[in-house]
Amino acid sequence: MTEEPIILFIGGSGRSGSTLIDLLLNSHSQIQSVGEVHRLNLYARENNEPCTCGVPVAQCPFWLEVEQEVRQKLAWPKDRNPLQETDIMLVPGSIGKLATLLQKASFIAAPIPMARWINRTFARPHQQAIETAVAWYDAIRKVTKTRVLIDSTKDARRLKLLYLQAPQQFRLLYMIRDGRAVTASKIRREGVSMEYAARDWRQAHRKTLLAQRGIPEQQIIRVHYEQLCTDPESTLKRVCAFLGLTYQPEMLTIKKIEAHNIGGNPMRFRTDEQSIKLDEAWRDQLTPDQLHQFDRVAGPMNRKLGYNDEASNSSA
Ligand SMILES: [Zn+2]
Repeated sequence: MTEEPIILFIGGSGRSGSTLIDLLLNSHSQIQSVGEVHRLNLYARENNEPCTCGVPVAQCPFWLEVEQEVRQKLAWPKDRNPLQETDIMLVPGSIGKLATLLQKASFIAAPIPMARWINRTFARPHQQAIETAVAWYDAIRKVTKTRVLIDSTKDARRLKLLYLQAPQQFRLLYMIRDGRAVTASKIRREGVSMEYAARDWRQAHRKTLLAQRGIPEQQIIRVHYEQLCTDPESTLKRVCAFLGLTYQPEMLTIKKIEAHNIGGNPMRFRTDEQSIKLDEAWRDQLTPDQLHQFDRVAGPMNRKLGYNDEASNSSA
């Protein structure tokens, strides 16, 4: 078994079970999940968002220990606070329109060395954020004595930039869920139209698929939410094999209180929720008209991702 460190990036659209798999994987002794970690410094600065452990990020003992490690790694003086002062987030407006275009084009069409060069030359703020992020990930692994660090930010640009920065360490877990379930959830929570929700979902997958170009197939694993919920054990065994880790039965239990995740869905705060249940509420919630609209906008993408069945909608 190789012992090289791994950055496991969770990609895909929101509301697809990424928080769930993140928490399950975190129960493995060799895996440390930190959730949507790109907001780390933002939360630490604003000091209004709690860590999963319940304490504000800037006061969480875990993050303070990691900060100490980063301070040494980046050779920062003692009176400075990397937790508040560094930034590992990719701010969309920080690189200008031309750089953004070049960056997009390089992700889609350029060979990997050229994409790396374009990014380092024209998108310095993003490059800086990613280099700093990798330093934080190393520190987290060191403090937790783990091999695998999970970043479940999902953003396709971050996915590609992390790969360009650390190609040997990078692995992608592409989380996929039936688009009808994802859009139903978005409509329910945000009150948006099906047209909007379907476009948004389709776009997230288009970007994620494009960002995967040039990344070797053996560094990517696809996990379907429905599979994870109906057969968590074999799904987690498959992910462990992909990461070169031995499966641990403890992974089937969610130990939220011990986690130090950032961002993500509210389920991470509900400590009473210990079971893995398949949520198929969309089958009753979506009207025939909404299903038709979904199919028109995102049907081909949904089928491409493996969802070929007709909806057995009770109101149809
Ligand atoms: Zn914490």
